[in-house]
Amino acid sequence: MKKLGEHAIVIGASMSGLLAARVLSDFYTTVTVLERDAFPAADTARKGVPQGRHTHGLLARGSEVLEELFPGYNDEVIRQSGGLVGDVANDVTWVGRNVALAKGRSELIGLVASRPVLEGHLRRRLLKLPNVRAVEHCSVRGLESDAARECVTGVRLRAGSGTEETIDADLVVDATGRGSSSATWLEALGYALPDSEKVEIGIGYTSRTYRRRPTDLDGKLGVVVVGSAPNWRNGALLAQEGDSWIVSTGGFLGDEAPDDDQGFLAYLATLPTMQIHDVVASAEPLSEYRRYRYVCNLRRRYEKLTRFPGNYLVVGDALCSFNPVYGQGMTVAALEALTLQACLQRGGPDELARRFFRAAAKIVDIPWDIAVGNDLRHPQVEGARPPMLRFINWYIGKLHLAAMHDSALTTAFLKVVNLMSPPPSLLSPAIAWRVWRVNARTASSFFSSASNGPSDDACKGRLGQAGGHANGKPFAE
Ligand SMILES: Cc1cc2nc3c(=O)[nH]c(=O)nc-3n(C[C@H](O)[C@H](O)[C@H](O)COP(=O)(O)OP(=O)(O)OC[C@H]3O[C@@H](n4cnc5c(N)ncnc54)[C@H](O)[C@@H]3O)c2cc1C
Repeated sequence: MKKLGEHAIVIGASMSGLLAARVLSDFYTTVTVLERDAFPAADTARKGVPQGRHTHGLLARGSEVLEELFPGYNDEVIRQSGGLVGDVANDVTWVGRNVALAKGRSELIGLVASRPVLEGHLRRRLLKLPNVRAVEHCSVRGLESDAARECVTGVRLRAGSGTEETIDADLVVDATGRGSSSATWLEALGYALPDSEKVEIGIGYTSRTYRRRPTDLDGKLGVVVVGSAPNWRNGALLAQEGDSWIVSTGGFLGDEAPDDDQGFLAYLATLPTMQIHDVVASAEPLSEYRRYRYVCNLRRRYEKLTRFPGNYLVVGDALCSFNPVYGQGMTVAALEALTLQACLQRGGPDELARRFFRAAAKIVDIPWDIAVGNDLRHPQVEGARPPMLRFINWYIGKLHLAAMHDSALTTAFLKVVNLMSPPPSLLSPAIAWRVWRVNARTASSFFSSASNGPSDDACKGRLGQAGGHANGKPFAE
């Protein structure tokens, strides 16, 4: 592999930083990862990654890319830490638009383990590379530049001892998460602030871990509920290492689940499937309740700036952070790492930032549209709803109704959600025909019995496969 420089610095040793460092190690003589936290001795949550105490799963595409960058990664998480892999379309129940999608075998293989385990394995693999080192207890405070302020020449940091230092680098990558200070650091060097797109959703997460029994969910790996009217509450129950479950639930705009046993169960009972409630009701708790408030989808449009240092990049949540309910963040970080690799392979360090931000924007467009497009179905979430978005949301609703009966549609939908296929694949004639056929059949059976009132089946079918509903009736949006 060609060498493009002597030294690259990555700020932040979480998922996106570790992945970027792996790619840079092929192109720079030395890569240094600077992290504010200490690395935990065991794979436990740490201060700089508070979301690490909440439900995380790695989508099929993310699992594939991690395997490509760190061959054997998935197997290590399973064998050494007790993570699990499963067929996303067959081993997990997906509930959206208040219906459970039909299960069926697919080639979508996802990885479930706690967030600290996923990160711990990645960090250990990265630090085995001879030209990569990590410095803990090291907080980056700003950037150094050349006299003309055209180029970043390094970072200013405060080390654990309290001393202030400067480290030089040919390339600096910001992977410090959604609280990134890049815009401010660059403004101090005379650069314009990037446009920020924000969609406020105020999603509350209340999470807890429980002992997992082999009989729970008949041995399946989880349930994911994406909220819809009338209560818009989300829920996820995912298996993880140590024969345990992690459960997270919460709603939009402050509709948080209580963190006491009775209130938490009552909240879970309002989801359109009782599966999560029923597991939790009889499971042994293994942790306290933990809370997290996710304020907004946030995208920083660096690709639109006309002036930017060519050797400074921003990746991961620092570039764009999405409603976590869709589980996309780590997979997007992995895809951005591949994009960085392609940019480095195809060109030198000149104008790297411009090329990277343009390419990364195309990666981010899809998960952003999936997350924000779905969030905008909530009537109180503010944002533009052009006719195309309304059509897509209407069509995805029809697709869900059809996918209750057709596992091929479940797989097609989950391929998009898992970032394996582009969203337009759902509008292909073959898929659109299946959506129309099932909806037409359901509508005609509904109308043929309508003179006697809607049949039980017409209602029950929507949630029967999800294990029933607390109220025994489907919702309409
Ligand atoms: C509740 C919740 C649930 C989620 N569930 C999923 C899921 O199921 N699947 C999924 O793929 N994604 C999920 N995500 C998203 C996922 O956690 C992130 O997208 C992913 O961790 C990538 O983040 P990152 O590495 O860019 O930043 P972060 O994980 O936020 O890490 C930033 C790092 O930078 C360090 N740092 C910050 N400032 C400095 C500084 N000045 N100097 C040095 N170091 C610094 C921090 O200590 C930290 O280590 C979820 C997110 C949340 C909030």
